Amino acid sequence: MRKEMEEDVLVENQSRRKFIGNSSLALVVAALANVTAEGQQKANTQKAEHDHSSSDPGQENKTLLDLNPNSNTPPPTDHGDVLPFWYSFDLVKKRVEEGGWTHEVTQRELPVSKNVAGVNMRLTAGSYREMHWHTADEWAYVLYGNARVTVMHPDGSQFIGDVREGDLWIFPAGFPHSIQGLGPDGTEFLLVFPQGDFSEDGTFLLSEFMAHIPPEVVAKNTGLSIETISDFPEAPMYIFPGSVPGSLEQDKKEIGGEAVLSKLQYTFHLKSMEPTRVTHGGEVRIVDSRNFPLSTRIVGALVTLKPGGIREMHWHPNASEWQFWIAGKGRMTMVLPVANARTMDFNANDVGYVPPNAGHYIENTGDSDVVFLELFAASEFMDVSLNQWLRRVPSEMLKAHLNIDVATAKVIPSEKLQLLPL
Ligand code: MN
Ligand code: MN
Repeated sequence: MRKEMEEDVLVENQSRRKFIGNSSLALVVAALANVTAEGQQKANTQKAEHDHSSSDPGQENKTLLDLNPNSNTPPPTDHGDVLPFWYSFDLVKKRVEEGGWTHEVTQRELPVSKNVAGVNMRLTAGSYREMHWHTADEWAYVLYGNARVTVMHPDGSQFIGDVREGDLWIFPAGFPHSIQGLGPDGTEFLLVFPQGDFSEDGTFLLSEFMAHIPPEVVAKNTGLSIETISDFPEAPMYIFPGSVPGSLEQDKKEIGGEAVLSKLQYTFHLKSMEPTRVTHGGEVRIVDSRNFPLSTRIVGALVTLKPGGIREMHWHPNASEWQFWIAGKGRMTMVLPVANARTMDFNANDVGYVPPNAGHYIENTGDSDVVFLELFAASEFMDVSLNQWLRRVPSEMLKAHLNIDVATAKVIPSEKLQLLPL
């Protein structure tokens, strides 16, 4: 455990400084922060608060500054050299094809995230993400519109189902699957993989399997004539236009009905499920192996946090957290040993990361709801509430640590609330 923690620590050391210094991420974050580590330390001193240091004129990208006030001028409680744990889908190039587009934030863009990678994809009505499979489980959340998905179990049972905004699907590693945009306007979704170096460009495609096997072998294997095989579209197809399919019932019947249809449910209504927890601060919906049996290697939570509210001070004992910000504006501080803390801002379409066990909170700093997804490469969602812990130790112990008596301690919520109001 100790070793694992060391490997996950985000604190900069000499060799990492060199590595990160060469990456594009460092350039972006340096531009954002516009301060060196030394400058940051200085800003924390009383002196700097009282002279004109912080108002000195300097080069700035005002748009970025306005979006990232805490990343630029951190609260005085920040300390040390924590590596960046922020990236944005708006900084990665889109692969645009006829029928849709895709782009991704993986370990290449956000080096601290070794266990999880994410992909954002759009398919127009009727367009396909080509039939394919890959090395990691796929957890997907529909951000917009409607789609039809298929996935086949190695035992031959086939699942076919429709999803809409707020639904998710899981395709286990190696299970072949497809996604198609439906009417009226196709779909947009987020794909999350419990594998930091995953890439949507590195999946196993039907077209490539066909194109790189001698045609006479494909003919023997399928029974198709060489002539038919020579008419296959060129590989790769990846994303390509198609016609909006008929009804789901028609498709189910056509592939063989009950005899071949899967008994397993690969899709889940996340946004419309009963909230796992509701407080005056917002709502949390947790999906893991306890309510969605296929969720054995990746689990998630959909969080809605009201303006001024906080996702309480907590940590996750069993996995790192990978966040996708759907809406709103907020900040997160992460605290790591020894005396290292960094605060960064997050906006819609941003990605955040927290290593296992690192204490953190999220505060809604905007004037509308923050909506974000928390994803973990695990089978169960697990978080430790600081408040709950404080209320479950003997009062003498609490007094010895924080210098508060029993009566004072009673204002601390004794239950895990996850979301606290303003
Ligand atoms: Mn896939
Ligand atoms: Mn968390």
